[in-house]
Amino acid sequence: MYFCGPTVYQRIHIGNARPFILSMWLRRWLKLSGYQARLVVNVTDINDRIYDAARAQGIGSAELARRATQWYWEDTRALGLGRPDVEPLATETVPEIVTLIGGLKAKGLAYESGGDVYFRVARFPEYGRLSGARLEDMVAQEPGGRKEDARDFALWKANKPHEDTWWPSPWGRGRPGWHIECSAMAEKHLGPGFDIHGGGLDLRFPHHENEIAQSRGAGQQFARLWIHNGLLELRAEKMSKSVGNVVSLRTALTSWGREAILVFFLNAHYRSPIEFSDSAMEVARVQAADFRAATRVAEARPSAFTWDSFRAALDDDFDTPRALAILHDWRASGQLELLGRGLDVFGLGLDIDGVEAPPDLHQLAEARQAARQRRDFGEADRLRNELDRLGWEVQDVAGGGFRLIRKAR
Ligand SMILES: [Zn+2]
Repeated sequence: MYFCGPTVYQRIHIGNARPFILSMWLRRWLKLSGYQARLVVNVTDINDRIYDAARAQGIGSAELARRATQWYWEDTRALGLGRPDVEPLATETVPEIVTLIGGLKAKGLAYESGGDVYFRVARFPEYGRLSGARLEDMVAQEPGGRKEDARDFALWKANKPHEDTWWPSPWGRGRPGWHIECSAMAEKHLGPGFDIHGGGLDLRFPHHENEIAQSRGAGQQFARLWIHNGLLELRAEKMSKSVGNVVSLRTALTSWGREAILVFFLNAHYRSPIEFSDSAMEVARVQAADFRAATRVAEARPSAFTWDSFRAALDDDFDTPRALAILHDWRASGQLELLGRGLDVFGLGLDIDGVEAPPDLHQLAEARQAARQRRDFGEADRLRNELDRLGWEVQDVAGGGFRLIRKAR
């Protein structure tokens, strides 16, 4: 799987967390389903926006990209979902990018113009098939006078005076265009054909359309399936860094915690837009707290849902709202084994605040267990009361074990 990662020039916003979370959940689910899964999520550390932001702050663009990459790693790590298998940087992939562009040029699919290299869209008849983009949209991307055809897009851009980084190439010094970076990184780490390509719906055109043109134009099979996540909306307006209505992932982590963020995204199908608001986050926070407290449900009763019901929901285009409803049913009915197993798929869990009973309390609970086994219920009750006095509740679980739960204060 290849998922398009962030362009690094500031802390990522909460909307950028969605494809990251989706990719990590999906990899986990595929592995649990018996597939081998390898996930590549790139970092776009060469881009116009990085040059612009660095200039505005009076620092070097490479320095800004390096810092913002650290922020991205820090913030996504705090989601507690682990890391993708490979996280390549565009700056590490320039030789492969140059080779790929050279190949397209040799096939007549690209041409040089004033130190830039452009993709010749007219020579790639499949263009527009993924997105159904109309001709007027194609004309709107990358206006400029150096192109043969208004639809063409840049593969390589000649260095401009205000750009403080550049790389050598057969077309002079410059730097890659954004789209070709992903084509080269996907091929380098997954080969010429792979299964799933993901990213936000806003990337379908032109970014993904251009990736297809480049990679398939170069003779590769490229991605067999596409997954586009719906965008995060704030007051019904798409959240993007350029709009300015930004809540960073860092801010959301500080305000609501990782579990609330994960539950918030579980609430919507990945293909749907999702509305971010304080009240939506509050609802998610309460749901996450309910899951954590599920161990306090006194006694298990039967649930209509089995593990197969949960699996069917996720196997059906990763229907997380349906899976979440099943988790809530397991919680309400005290089906803790199923609940723990289901929450774990999404990086959630029971007792997630890490409160573990001290060893001496464990000894008391074990002594109570032994008393019950020899049918000394008087002693078992005495030990239960002793634990209760110390602020812990002991619960019996299927298979003869027990669980110690700290009581609410
Ligand atoms: Zn990409």
